[in-house]
Amino acid sequence: MGISANPVPTFSARSRLRQWFDAGTAAPPDDDPRSDRIDWLRALPFAALHVACLGILWVGVSPVAVIVAAGLYAIRMFALTGFYHRYFAHRTFRASRRVQFVFALIGAACVQRGPLWWAAHHRHHHRHADTELDPHAPGVHGFLWSHMGWFLTPRAFRTDLERVPDLAKYPELRWLDRYDVAVPVALAIALYALGVLLRHLAPQWHTDGAQMLVWGFFVSTAVLFHATVTINSLAHRWGARRFDTRDDSRNNVWLALLTFGEGWHNNHHFFPGSARQGFRWWEIDLTWYGLKLMALLGLVHDLKPVPAWVHARARR
Ligand SMILES: [Zn+2]
Ligand SMILES: [Zn+2]
Repeated sequence: MGISANPVPTFSARSRLRQWFDAGTAAPPDDDPRSDRIDWLRALPFAALHVACLGILWVGVSPVAVIVAAGLYAIRMFALTGFYHRYFAHRTFRASRRVQFVFALIGAACVQRGPLWWAAHHRHHHRHADTELDPHAPGVHGFLWSHMGWFLTPRAFRTDLERVPDLAKYPELRWLDRYDVAVPVALAIALYALGVLLRHLAPQWHTDGAQMLVWGFFVSTAVLFHATVTINSLAHRWGARRFDTRDDSRNNVWLALLTFGEGWHNNHHFFPGSARQGFRWWEIDLTWYGLKLMALLGLVHDLKPVPAWVHARARR
């Protein structure tokens, strides 16, 4: 009668399909060997996201579609780095419940699961970085697995609420986390509708629903995804080490530009408690500038700085 008597149902196709729509669906037990293998059924939407990018061959391109795709990359990257990472995972500044929710919503539009899932896995990464227990350690599991294998396993599906009790107390965040497909679907529909609208209101812009959907949603989201996960794969491989951390994190200017400041990853692993990741004036950190601007406007406050003792420990 024990729970372990019949663990099979949680691996059934029906329950794995249900996980597409309801992340609250019971996750399979962690001690099952299948927990660490890619669940190909659940990986289908991720594969489809990439295949859908080929749609550009049919829908063509227009300046407005590219501008919308780039704009959505920028705002969603900021929500990921500024809020999913520096706010939810590391609590490096404060924000009202309303601002917190708005950026959790934009973060959810990134199609990288909900804020609790993201923060819980990221806290786990910092605790066990580059060890056997780190789900995306390129030195242990290889580049491809760290880049885009680990999160397709049943083990990584679940949100460990014990890692995020400070966030789990907000029902609106738990809702976003459970129905993590809702915001992406709403964004896709809104983009299609925008394209239809523009086709009628501004036919000289040569766009339509399908083109806006392919560029604004599929292409922008796929690029956003691969840029984000370079921090898991490449930023633990390529770059300079200013601080002698226990992990293999690196500082890399190219990754910092691509990810709005997250490429100063060795800085960040040495001192994750700062809202700033480019520790020197020349270390471009777009997210930090954005957060400073938000602080000036009174939208966020108490941005945690880099303490003097951290600078004193820098090698160069
Ligand atoms: Zn890391
Ligand atoms: Zn971090």
